[in-house]
Amino acid sequence: MISSNISREQYDTWFAPVGFVGYDEDGQMLTLSVPSPFIREYIEEHYLKLLRAVLQHQYGQGVRLRYEVKVDAINNLSTREEGTERSTSTSPVMRREGVNASPRALQHLDSQLKPEYTFDNFVEGESNKLPRTVGLAIAQNPHQATFNPLFIYGGSGVGKTHLVNAIGLRVKELHPELRVLYVSAHLFQVQYTDSVRHNTVNDFIAFYQSIDVLIIDDVQEFASLQKTQNTFFHIFNHLHQNGKQLILTSDRPPVALEGMEERLLTRFKWGLLAELEQPTQSLRRDILCYKIRRDGLKVSTPVIDYIAATVDKSIRDLEGVLTSLMAYSVVNNCEIDLGLAERVISRTVGISRQHATLSLEDILTRTCHYFSIDREDVLSSTRKAPVVLARQVVMYLAQQHTRLSTTKIGAFVGKRGHATVLHSCQAVSQRLQADDSFRERIEELEGLLMQ
Ligand code: ADP
Ligand code: MG
Repeated sequence: MISSNISREQYDTWFAPVGFVGYDEDGQMLTLSVPSPFIREYIEEHYLKLLRAVLQHQYGQGVRLRYEVKVDAINNLSTREEGTERSTSTSPVMRREGVNASPRALQHLDSQLKPEYTFDNFVEGESNKLPRTVGLAIAQNPHQATFNPLFIYGGSGVGKTHLVNAIGLRVKELHPELRVLYVSAHLFQVQYTDSVRHNTVNDFIAFYQSIDVLIIDDVQEFASLQKTQNTFFHIFNHLHQNGKQLILTSDRPPVALEGMEERLLTRFKWGLLAELEQPTQSLRRDILCYKIRRDGLKVSTPVIDYIAATVDKSIRDLEGVLTSLMAYSVVNNCEIDLGLAERVISRTVGISRQHATLSLEDILTRTCHYFSIDREDVLSSTRKAPVVLARQVVMYLAQQHTRLSTTKIGAFVGKRGHATVLHSCQAVSQRLQADDSFRERIEELEGLLMQ
């Protein structure tokens, strides 16, 4: 049931490793095993509603959930963690005991690295030469102190996440004994807040202090979050003092990080600041050629040159154009020629960048259609999760693709205030960063809107 609600990839990553331990009918207690506290955290953060619905369906109202974190199979060490489904509550709170931080228990750390982001498929160019070379040096020798922290910054879609994953994977390959962890700043913050709520901050800190190579992606997300910053400061100091490697990414350099504590900014500059610059035309061309070869496509040189010359800001955009081109040519059974490339580029990257004005009505209709939700529901005050999501997406798309003020957008989607609109846009953009399949769906929807 879970697998039919999420993508195969998501299921394989998050649910396939979860095991059934037992169900106690008298106590209505279901016990599941999870391979790491992270998997549990992630599932609860992203799939709590789905999990709850499935459990209620299978086991009835009021079923309680307990996790066993299988951290060391040989010594049979496991932590029991309980969560309670309160059927009366609309948002059940799962209670748990927190992260088990004993060094033994942490042997089997799930590093959260994305296996597809390797050095082998990270095409080299002038714009990424420095961070790439330093990344390779760190992977060779993670105990060096010169590049600690490595702070990589650059705009959206220039390859930050890919590169830091590649570094992490290479470290693991060359030094399997090291504990490498990749975490987005957003997830770090969520886990931290959670640990405050459950009174397990010490465990949280101890866990992070046990890492050898800590990679935190998009640290600009820490801006204005004072408590998270404070906690991260302690973790940073401990790791740094003990010669552990920190790798951070940000969408801007430290000087431009507003809302970040001075003492953290100072530390960010201790090691190496390396910019991932916007890809040069020749790198864009090389990446296109690489991906075209890999996907077995047939694209002529003038078309490649045209795309490389036009799509100039982000490699993510470049990939998007290529994927759309492939889709159009397959669906319409036509060659990928210049005309098609022009159309696809203006529909995907070109138009969204110019903020071509779509109408609110279009956005609402298309989004409702895409999510199979009634427009009346979106405009009503219902708090049903799928409706809330669709409503938030409408507000987000309206903010991205129209020139209307948040007040006007709020008024349109059922008399909502501008704070609600801002909050919704933030919620959607955070999820876009954390949830790849959600991002793919929203991109698809945006593609439809552009047609
Ligand atoms: P960022 O984190 O900076 O927003 P990502 O690392 O997510 O960007 O990169 C966006 C996309 O571009 C990813 O699919 C990534 O694999 C691809 N990409 C980025 N840089 C390169 C590169 N040098 N070679 C090949 N693919 C790249
Ligand atoms: Mg990224």
